[in-house]
Amino acid sequence: MTVVADVLTSPRSQTAALPRAHRHVPSSAAPLIVRSPQQIAALAAVFAAMALTVHWASGPLVQLVDHPIESWVIHHRTPTADAVVRRISFLGSSQVVYTLGPLLGLAALARCKIVGATVLAVTAARPLVEFTFKSLVGRPRPDIDRLVRGTGYSFPCGHVMAAAALWGMVPLVLSLYVSSRRVWRASAIASVAMIVMIGSTRVYLGVHWPSDVVAGAILDLLLLSLLDRAFHRVHDRYHCRASHP
Ligand SMILES: [Zn+2]
Repeated sequence: MTVVADVLTSPRSQTAALPRAHRHVPSSAAPLIVRSPQQIAALAAVFAAMALTVHWASGPLVQLVDHPIESWVIHHRTPTADAVVRRISFLGSSQVVYTLGPLLGLAALARCKIVGATVLAVTAARPLVEFTFKSLVGRPRPDIDRLVRGTGYSFPCGHVMAAAALWGMVPLVLSLYVSSRRVWRASAIASVAMIVMIGSTRVYLGVHWPSDVVAGAILDLLLLSLLDRAFHRVHDRYHCRASHP
C-alpha cells in the first residue's frame, strides 16, 4: 500500500513520469478505496450477507428497502433525464464492453504483455463471474415500470460489473501511454464516477433493485482489489522487459 500512498501524496508525484514504472501504479482505483486485508474481508462479509439475505428473504428486502427507493426514482423521471440516462447506461452495455474491452486489451498489449493479458482476462472472465453469482442467488428483477428490456436474474447488477471490467481498467492502460500521475489520478476518479453512474442508471431504468447495484459495486471493489494484488505479483516477476517504452 506504500505504492498507493506514493501515488497520492508524494510531492514528486506531480511531475514524476510513469511509463518506465507503471508497475508501481495501482491496477485500478479499487486498491485506493480498499487498503487492507481486513477491509477486503469485511467487504466479502457484507456481500455474502447481502447475497444470503436476497436469496432467502428477497421479498422483505424488496418491500422494506428496494421498492420505496425504486418507486421514488421512477416517479421522478423526466423525458430529458430518460434520454441522458439511456446514453449513460449504453456505456456499460454488452455492445460497448465487448467492443472496447478487447480494443483496450490490444492497446495495452502493444506496450505491456501483463497489462494486456490482465485487461483481456478481466473482459473474458466478467460474464462468467456475473452469471455464476446471478444463478446462485436467483433473484427476480423488478417489474414495476421498465424503460428498457432486462433479462436474466437481478443480483448482482451486471452493468455495474461490466462497467468496472471496462472503465475500471482504463487508468492502468492509460499509464502505459501517458506519463503524468495527475492524469492517472484524474482517470481513476473518472472511472469510479463512470461505474457509479452506469450502475445508478439501471435503477432509474427499472431493471435493477438498488441493492443489486450496491452489491455489484461491492463485488467490483472486492474482485479488483484482489486482482491488484495478483497483477503486481505477476507484473513484478516479469519486469516487462520487452514491452515497456
Ligand atoms: Zn508492464
